[in-house]
Amino acid sequence: MSRILRGGDVVPTSGVYATLHSTPHKLIERKLYLKGERFPSCHFCPLGVLYKLEQRGETGQAGTLREHDLVAS
Ligand SMILES: [Zn+2]
Repeated sequence: MSRILRGGDVVPTSGVYATLHSTPHKLIERKLYLKGERFPSCHFCPLGVLYKLEQRGETGQAGTLREHDLVAS
């Protein structure tokens, strides 16, 4: 049930958002945005930029991986 948001929209929930540019000049980025900010739009994308919430929260630990757990015998 994640909502798709656009450049210029107000950030509804703090968290990590996937950024999808409508022209393929950039890879998908994941970035933290805080509630109440506005998503930036992009000069290169006349159709705009889409933002999709990937992980809630503002702890900045969204990328924490537990790979060591997998290696433990
Ligand atoms: Zn763009």
